[in-house]
Amino acid sequence: MAENKKLKLAIYWAAACGGCDVAITQINEKILDLIAVADIVFWPCAMDFKYDDVRNMKDKEIDVCLFSGAIRNSDHEEYAKLLREKSKSMIAFGACACIGGIPGLSNVTTAKESLSRAYLEEPSAPNPDRVLPQLKTNVAEGELTLPVTWDTVHTLNQVVDVDYYVPGCPPTPALIATALDAIVSGQLPPRGSVIAGTKALCDECERVKKNEMRVSEFKAPWEIQIDPEQCLIEQGIVCVGPATRSGCGAQCPKVNMPCTGCFGPPEGVDDQGAAMLSAIASVVCPGADISPEAALDGLRDPLGTFYRFSLPASILRRVKTANKE
Ligand code: SF4
Ligand code: SF4
Repeated sequence: MAENKKLKLAIYWAAACGGCDVAITQINEKILDLIAVADIVFWPCAMDFKYDDVRNMKDKEIDVCLFSGAIRNSDHEEYAKLLREKSKSMIAFGACACIGGIPGLSNVTTAKESLSRAYLEEPSAPNPDRVLPQLKTNVAEGELTLPVTWDTVHTLNQVVDVDYYVPGCPPTPALIATALDAIVSGQLPPRGSVIAGTKALCDECERVKKNEMRVSEFKAPWEIQIDPEQCLIEQGIVCVGPATRSGCGAQCPKVNMPCTGCFGPPEGVDDQGAAMLSAIASVVCPGADISPEAALDGLRDPLGTFYRFSLPASILRRVKTANKE
C-alpha cells in the first residue's frame, strides 16, 4: 500500500486506567501488520502529540479513532467531540467507553463526595492541609486550569455518536485483532455493532457440569474448594455470566474466577444488573431452604456486583441524590 494511502488511526483515553492502551500492545507482532497499513496520528499516552495537532486536522481526516475511557469531566467531553468531528469511524474501545466501566461506579455518589473521599479521607494519602484540586490556580507563568468533574459519569455514546463497540476490561488481544483486521480490510460490520459475541457468556463457558440449580448461600471464591467443572453459580459463587455478552472465551470462569460482567449485557438486554438480579432470583427461589432476601444477605455488594461495569449504561444510570442530574 502506498505511503499516502495509509489509514490514519487515532487512539485516545478519557476516564481510563490505561489498561486498554496496554492491551493494544498485547496484540504482539500483529501491531507490525497494523503499522504497515496505518499511521498512528494521535496517541498521547504513548507518543508526544498535542491537541492542536488534532484541531488543525480537516474534518473526517482520521479514518478510525479508538476511544477508551468513560466521560466524566469537561475535558473528556471536549476531546470526544473534537475526535468525533475529525474521525470517519468512532470506536468505543473497552468497558469504560462502551458502558461506563469502573469509573461509572462513582454514579452512586457525587463529584464533591468522590473528591472528598480521595483527598481528605483516604488514609494512604495524608493531606494535613486539606488541599482540594482547584479549577483555577495562578502561578508566575499565568493561570492554570483543571477540567470540571461531573457528578454523573457517562458512556461515550451518551456524548457523541459511536460507530462500533469493542467491549472488555480490557478487550482481549483476540478481539482487538479481529477489530483491527476488520478496520484494515474495510470489512467492518454494520454500524452500531458490538464486535464480540451476541449471546450470554454461559453459552461459551466450558463448566458443563450442572446439577439442580438451587442456591441457599452465596460465598466468595476463596471461601470454598471450587469444583473446576461445575457452574460457579451452582456452587454459590455469583458469576455474572448469565447477564454478560460472550466473546472473551470465558477466560475468568476457566480459572475458577466468576465473570464480573466487563463485556456488558448480551444482545437484546437493556439492563445488565436487572438481568443478573433476575438470574440470581431464579436459582435461589425454586425449592431453596431460605428466601431470596436471606440468600441475598450473603451478597456483600449487590450494586457493585450486578452493575460493576454498566451502571452509567443502565436504566438507573445513577443513584438519585438531592439536587443532582
Ligand atoms: S475498560 Fe478496563 S482496562 Fe480499559 S480503561 Fe477501563 S478499567 Fe482500564
Ligand atoms: S454462570 Fe458462570 S460458571 Fe456458570 S455457566 Fe455461566 S459463565 Fe459459566
